[in-house]
Amino acid sequence: NVRVRFAPSPTGLLHIGGLRTALYNYLFAKGHDGTFVLRIEDTDQSRYVEGAEKDIKESLKWIGMEVDEGPENPGDVGPYRQSERKDIYKDYAEQLVEQGNAYYAFDTPEELDQMRERLKKSGNPAPKYDAITRMSMKNSLTLPEEEVERKLDEGEDYVIRLKVPRRETVRFEDEIRGFVSFESKGLDDQVLVKSDGMPTYHLANVVDDHLMKISHVIRGEEWLSSTPKHMLMYEYFGWEPPKVAHLPLIMSPSGGKLSKRKAESEGIPINTKDYIEQKYEPEALVNFLAYLGWSPGDDTEIHSMDELIDLFSLDRVSKGGAVFDYPKLTWYNEHYLREKPAEELFPRVNEIANEHGIDPDKEYMMEIIPLMKDRVSKVEEFITMGHFFFEDPEEYEEQALDKWSDDSAELLSDYVDKIEQLDTDEFEATTLKDKIKEVIEAHDVGFGPLMMPLRVAVSGMGHGPDLTPTLELIGKEATIRRINTAIE
Ligand code: GLU
Repeated sequence: NVRVRFAPSPTGLLHIGGLRTALYNYLFAKGHDGTFVLRIEDTDQSRYVEGAEKDIKESLKWIGMEVDEGPENPGDVGPYRQSERKDIYKDYAEQLVEQGNAYYAFDTPEELDQMRERLKKSGNPAPKYDAITRMSMKNSLTLPEEEVERKLDEGEDYVIRLKVPRRETVRFEDEIRGFVSFESKGLDDQVLVKSDGMPTYHLANVVDDHLMKISHVIRGEEWLSSTPKHMLMYEYFGWEPPKVAHLPLIMSPSGGKLSKRKAESEGIPINTKDYIEQKYEPEALVNFLAYLGWSPGDDTEIHSMDELIDLFSLDRVSKGGAVFDYPKLTWYNEHYLREKPAEELFPRVNEIANEHGIDPDKEYMMEIIPLMKDRVSKVEEFITMGHFFFEDPEEYEEQALDKWSDDSAELLSDYVDKIEQLDTDEFEATTLKDKIKEVIEAHDVGFGPLMMPLRVAVSGMGHGPDLTPTLELIGKEATIRRINTAIE
């Protein structure tokens, strides 16, 4: 019975790496007739960001991942927000204390600082609160029992720490990396309950994965080093641990981890919300993210969500970092745009048009969409690139003006003479093309000298959709007016 969870902390907008984690969990769950759980890990009040949970849910919805159990549609292992489960964790922490696997520690922040200073001075670059240091610290393992009782009674501040064994090898199998082992002397006595009584991520995560009957923990590589501590806790609780899989880091094209700062400097949007606002096709992002650290092992690249569900497996997830090949996303986006029928695109294009102060006639827009589909990379380009379908160009693109030569005006004016004689119903692509031929033959030039300035005059741009169907759509009156304006 496969149950996975996506367990984001609502500390800001959902970033693209988090979305990939969600996707891999989702694909894995759906491929095994399993359950995709959303759990909000909001125990760290100091990092809580208002609206973050909403952003997470909207992102999942937009990309097409339906949550089977979560805050909005609880199953029977809720609540699904850790802040609503506070009371549960305390008892489990106390159980570990009673068993001798955890202990109260009364050290003040100043004492901890001094400890770190002391250890640093003695040549320890990364001081830890571990089996050795705890001998010199103020905690229930070093104080007489009565004193511990007294401190607790007097309400002195304390934390509960995991008692990590001094020399032990913690070994576990990762579904992606194979066997992994950590020496316990490299682990610190992790705080499980903070002085404000709130559990840390580690305690809440383990308790919840167990109580929520999670079968597979699929998360980013940055959590791998926490896993040995979690494994110790499963052992002490006497629980069977879930299977674990740690996904490869996402790397920037220039190397190194794709951090927020790095993404910014390389012009890569980092938040899912950015992709929604830039109106990417969700199918494109799904396909792109699926391949960010996984591949089906053949050379196919285009797969819908349903196909990915069938194909996905953890053993084909790579161990090494996955490079965020941003241009590839554009390639996917173009693919999915071309696949969509005009009827499906119309409402979205219409909305974008409205945002640009244009209220297109549906029939007209339904002609424009197929004409431009092969040219656009993003849906809004139907309007930004296709602006000339609605308004005379106000200015001409700099690079388009290069296409203008000394003969341009004369060729264009001859063309105007020809098309002026056409009736409105004759004003269609093939006839318009024939007229172009007549003019260039008379002048003994190629297509370029007329078609290039013609496009510039009508659209203001050097490139665009097929020219004569474009003229047909713009219509006789506007075409002639624009050419005349350009000649002047
Ligand atoms: N709350 C953690 C995060 O924000 C979850 C890590 C995990 O999946 O265990 O990524």
